[in-house]
Amino acid sequence: MGACKYCGERKAIKNSHIIPSFVYKWLKETSPTGFIRATDQPNRRKQDGLKSALLCEECEKSFSEVESLFKKDLFIKLANYRTPCPNERQITDSIIRCLYIIAWRVLADTYYFPRSHQYTDDEFARFPEFLNKIKKSIELLEFKDFQTHLIPCTREVLERLNLPKVEWFFYDRAIGAEVRIWDDWERFIIFIKIPSAIIIFEIVQNEKDIWSGTQIENSNKLFLEDITMVPSYVSTQIEYFYDHFLKSKQQITDNQMKKILEGIQNAAPNCGSFQTMRKEW
Ligand SMILES: [Zn+2]
Repeated sequence: MGACKYCGERKAIKNSHIIPSFVYKWLKETSPTGFIRATDQPNRRKQDGLKSALLCEECEKSFSEVESLFKKDLFIKLANYRTPCPNERQITDSIIRCLYIIAWRVLADTYYFPRSHQYTDDEFARFPEFLNKIKKSIELLEFKDFQTHLIPCTREVLERLNLPKVEWFFYDRAIGAEVRIWDDWERFIIFIKIPSAIIIFEIVQNEKDIWSGTQIENSNKLFLEDITMVPSYVSTQIEYFYDHFLKSKQQITDNQMKKILEGIQNAAPNCGSFQTMRKEW
């Protein structure tokens, strides 16, 4: 096992989650059966494991403290089947920091544990530079080198932004992340999908992109009604991720399906997953 990719000092001793584990825990708690998780996680990265030997125990522990604040102050307000998402959300340093940590995890995982990908050598060679910059932001709590956009997936926001009307399951429950690079450094982003939110972490920004109301750096609050514009590529990314989501659904075996159906018969009719299934545009 190699060294921790974050501190570079201690040994990476376990498989680190790329998306924080509380997100998966929430998914499980709101599912009629643990087996349905297979359809909840559409992304091909899941099939690759979504875990890698990234971090040492100490780094993992210090990250998890930040992640639990993110969970408390933002995630459970967004992903909530009982109370609708409030129109106004306080944005704390911990929330921003947590999203930088996720961005770092996704980029580091892509760089240190490469799977089949389409990045050029030139692009790939610059990943360490970006990783260092993100790390610096995490350490110093200075968030000026990148732009992070948060899109809460409420009906009002999605309709106002005219985002694709794909199955609600995708917006409410899909989990995944991927590094996306456009040719000639036109744009370089990390697309992160967690339940009830889409996060776009811009590493190389395209000045022509117009965002309104989504950026979380340098603002203490996020107002849902102020979210009025995102670049058109966001829709394309959603279609792309949704496509993977559908493909992974098709890969469920007959045996898995049998277990899912058995579990559903015994499930509480109002569990979150069922509520999403009943939701229509
Ligand atoms: Zn470490």
